[in-house]
Amino acid sequence: MVKTFKNLAKSYLNYIKFAALKIIERNGYVLLLKNHYSELCSKLYLYEDETVYLKNYLNSAVKIIDLNCNRYGATENNFEIFDEAKQWKSFGIEPPNRSEEYPSCRWIEGGLSFVPDKLRVCPNCVEGGGTPGLTKFSGGHFSIREVLTIRKLIITANQNGGFNGCKKCPLLLKKMWAPKKFLFDTICLAHYTVCNLACEYCYAIPEGKQKLPLSSIISLKPTFEWLVEEKYLSTESVILWGGGEPIINKEFESLFIFLTRYGATSEVYTNGTILSKTLLEAMINNKASVMISIDAGTKESFNIIKGKNLFEKVVKNIDKYAKANKYKIILKMIICDKNKHEVIPFLNIAEKNDIRIVAYDVLTYNNHVSQEIIDCAAILKYEGIKRGIDVRVGEVGTIYNPNDNIRQRVEQSFNLLSGRNRLESNPNIQSTDLTEART
Ligand code: SF4
Ligand code: SF4
Repeated sequence: MVKTFKNLAKSYLNYIKFAALKIIERNGYVLLLKNHYSELCSKLYLYEDETVYLKNYLNSAVKIIDLNCNRYGATENNFEIFDEAKQWKSFGIEPPNRSEEYPSCRWIEGGLSFVPDKLRVCPNCVEGGGTPGLTKFSGGHFSIREVLTIRKLIITANQNGGFNGCKKCPLLLKKMWAPKKFLFDTICLAHYTVCNLACEYCYAIPEGKQKLPLSSIISLKPTFEWLVEEKYLSTESVILWGGGEPIINKEFESLFIFLTRYGATSEVYTNGTILSKTLLEAMINNKASVMISIDAGTKESFNIIKGKNLFEKVVKNIDKYAKANKYKIILKMIICDKNKHEVIPFLNIAEKNDIRIVAYDVLTYNNHVSQEIIDCAAILKYEGIKRGIDVRVGEVGTIYNPNDNIRQRVEQSFNLLSGRNRLESNPNIQSTDLTEART
């Protein structure tokens, strides 16, 4: 890897004084100071495709140290060199072999997912598999050795034919996976199922039957103080707040502030019924984003699906979050039989509040998603794009049953719709239009 990079860089020696870029090799990786990386890119005068190639290569093969943020105590001439082997060996485990490309995901490489009673690699469910529990957890410290043992087991399996639980997951990506300075950088907090709603489709609280009191929520503050103290948690971590309803947790504010001050960025998955001033402030400072599952376009459907008459309150809160930072709010709709006819009213709420991103998903634990729901998702995407909205696909129901090809089917319907309508906006579009187009 080092050799290839050096050959590539050397072939541009006429354009740059390569030796002056202070590239340091260590443990098979290249460390490159970020300011020199920018210098390298700007001095190469590459064609566009060559720049893309080199940047991709650098991103996967090179540890780039950012002197500007100086979180690593780095200076121009003296910066801490990260040694993955030493770190893993301190827990009695050899690090995985990362000399070649292999399929993996951000969760396998640096994830930690807090779910009731245990830790998992990722929060995702893939039918017939999914990732195993890492270790039991009921607060406080946990065994890093157990976590790394399973992480290595999954990586090694993925390098040799595939880890069963992940085999069908569309989030697997084959590329060079560089070692990381910190053991954990992608965190999901879904360690409880307490919520102020009881949505029909909720998989965290099936039929509202497992509703627990607020006092049942364990504290994670001591755990994160320990992870920070020991430098196991990345200063650039991404924290996904789920649950249950994350904002209802009495520890939400203090843990959120603690992690944000440490450097983490948060993604808060909320039902939008409670406004958090701390979250608003973090959104203004680009340190957090919020995903609000309104799942309806009208009060009537909202009441049926969510079980409470809080539609107006949620819409008001959406307005406040959007005003804080319209680029940091995602409005989400889980499309099901009860709301499938409301994708356009849903987009109207997004448009009215100048929201730039929406997401759709389908119900989890659904072995087959009907063509009508697929077509409604395609309509949402089609009409959203026409309105200049970035339409994203959720990572829960759409990946649950890979054999149902949900994402591919939505793309097919979307392509059919685009070809038929030549990408003209049609706010009266119906799923029956797609049925007709198919015949
Ligand atoms: S199931 Fe998917 S998201 Fe979860 S660890 Fe495996 S590949 Fe990653
Ligand atoms: S808001 Fe979320 S956690 Fe609460 S009941 Fe609805 S789906 Fe479940």
